[in-house]
Amino acid sequence: MNKNIAIVGAGFSGAVIANQLAHAGYQVEIFEARPHIAGNCHSERDAETGVMVHIYGPHIFHTDNERVWEFVNRFSEFKPYVNRVKAITNGKVYTLPINLLTINQFFGKTLRPAEAEEFLRELGDKSIENPATFEDQALRFVGRELYEAFFKTYTMKQWGLHPNQLPASILKRLPVRFNYDDNYFAHKYQGMPANGYTELVERILDVPGITVHLNTRFDPSSKGDYAHVFYSGPIDAWFKHAEGRLPYRTLDFEVFRDTGDYQGNAVINYCDDAERYTRITEHKHFSPWESHEGTVCYKEYSRQCEEKDIPYYPIRLARDKQQLELYVNLARQEQNVTFVGRLGTYRYLDMDVTINEALVTADRFLACAREQAAMPAFTIDPLA
Ligand code: UDP
Repeated sequence: MNKNIAIVGAGFSGAVIANQLAHAGYQVEIFEARPHIAGNCHSERDAETGVMVHIYGPHIFHTDNERVWEFVNRFSEFKPYVNRVKAITNGKVYTLPINLLTINQFFGKTLRPAEAEEFLRELGDKSIENPATFEDQALRFVGRELYEAFFKTYTMKQWGLHPNQLPASILKRLPVRFNYDDNYFAHKYQGMPANGYTELVERILDVPGITVHLNTRFDPSSKGDYAHVFYSGPIDAWFKHAEGRLPYRTLDFEVFRDTGDYQGNAVINYCDDAERYTRITEHKHFSPWESHEGTVCYKEYSRQCEEKDIPYYPIRLARDKQQLELYVNLARQEQNVTFVGRLGTYRYLDMDVTINEALVTADRFLACAREQAAMPAFTIDPLA
């Protein structure tokens, strides 16, 4: 077998698989439709201010996975960064995720951890035994007042849906803490690549045997020219949307510049309907080890993703999963194609999960090649 491997998409999924396969001796061609690598993690220095900007919105690296942390650290220095999100609601500023300070400030109390836990237990709706929706999960664990102040409106702005239509899994991303720890993430490792995500991905791709074609769409009908195709584009696009378009949310960013410090923090969420945007991110605060006179901020607006937009968040309501199942069945009939990543499997994935799955996918491919077994269309079940 001397045909090359094709990889569609130069985000983390594509880059990590390319790296592993090139090290194993394969010739790998990557096809990237956009003019840059790194997918939605792409970062670029702003020409005017020198600030490293997360072009497609904030990406904070956090993981518990030793293999993933060791892997990314081979390609970039990671600078310490801890995400501490502030939230504005009803004209006041609080800290997120909901922690002891949030609870005490919100209710005007001075509770200690065990008292706050008991207090929230009282506020929670105990009649909801198995919360399935976002709203039920919130009402069960934090009660109506905190839910309405911090989650209900933000979620409607973010998802365009009432939280009683959304799965509980979305809220489960956020912890509730009964201490003063306001680190947004609970993972062992957290940090930022010293020179941005694009340089990190560039280094992952810097292996002899990898060729990257930018501004180049891959035509699924040419899959026969390759020994195997790893596809990290939208699964429905591979099949020319034969079963309809899978719904996504997309983001619009209103970019503005200022001097000095605009908001004093990297991320401030706007949790009520005083503003249409969900959050303002001030990018220089994502690189606290740098100093810049100017500053670049993004006001972030979420809306339904249309044909020409960049997909961000898969929605995955029950009906979307039924539609996904049709595509998964089609994908399983494909020969020599494996679907990977957020768009290839239509899942809300963090970067570390994406990288881990890409490593596992490459392992699997190499094992299949050794054993002369067929490589499956998925290495994880997108419907799980
Ligand atoms: N969320 C919310 N209020 C907030 C922050 C988050 O209601 O202030 C909800 C919202 O539905 C969001 C979800 O929690 O989509 C997950 O939040 P996360 O910060 O993980 O979202 P991301 O940074 O991935 O957009």
